[in-house]
Amino acid sequence: MKHPLIAGNWKMFKTIPETVNLINIIKAGVHKITDCDIVVCPAFTTLAAVSKEIEDTKIELGAQNMHYETEGAFTGEISPLMLKDVRCRYVILGHSERRQHFKETDELINKKVMAALKYNLVPILCVGETLEEREARHAFEVVKQQFDRCLKNLKAEEVARVVIAYEPVWAIGTGKTATPEQAEQMHSYIRRLLNEQFGEEVGEKVYILYGGSVKPDNIAQLMAKPNVDGALVGGASIKAESFIQIVSNASSKEAANAPNR
Ligand code: PEP
Repeated sequence: MKHPLIAGNWKMFKTIPETVNLINIIKAGVHKITDCDIVVCPAFTTLAAVSKEIEDTKIELGAQNMHYETEGAFTGEISPLMLKDVRCRYVILGHSERRQHFKETDELINKKVMAALKYNLVPILCVGETLEEREARHAFEVVKQQFDRCLKNLKAEEVARVVIAYEPVWAIGTGKTATPEQAEQMHSYIRRLLNEQFGEEVGEKVYILYGGSVKPDNIAQLMAKPNVDGALVGGASIKAESFIQIVSNASSKEAANAPNR
């Protein structure tokens, strides 16, 4: 059975001293929790510092974005090779803030997913609809289109190494969480797409995380749903206590009789 996976997206917050302080409190708070996989995704400038602090722990390092080329004249960009260099294992790709503010397209995200896999990085591929799209009853269609385009030309064994994060845009940083039922509906739909297009073995293997205003008091209900394998946490991940609590509440999923899919 999969352990829950909780990933913290620290966005554009925290200087190096602030980050070191945060990771050390988290480290101390989660060191006894063995049945939850934990990933932290700090800003580029603090990756090396966090990498050093988590060396002797089971916390994994992730980045929030990357370019798809290995190197070149791409001023201001960071390559997969550079992420490997600081011992990143994960990289968030296609976050809605990247799509919205930096006009990232599914085609660009697809190139990044392929580059991440080439370098043995685990892409955390974000998909999700806007409020307008949900209200127009297009949520499933939108997510399917992102899924198809971002995973285009990938082999089943490559898709098996991808983590998918369902992040309804209307729930990110807004305090509005999708209900566990809404999350489960979309997660089971994504699972079905995986099963149909890449086979059940892949469908079973792929982690599907929920993201959007996850907090210590709503994680357990979300995790209780059979197709919710974990969470991508923004705001609540940069407060040590709430992140520790989320990890702790999520890790009780196994104890809490997770139903079989
Ligand atoms: C995110 O940034 O991926 C996110 C889910 O943010 P928040 O938890 O703050 O809604």
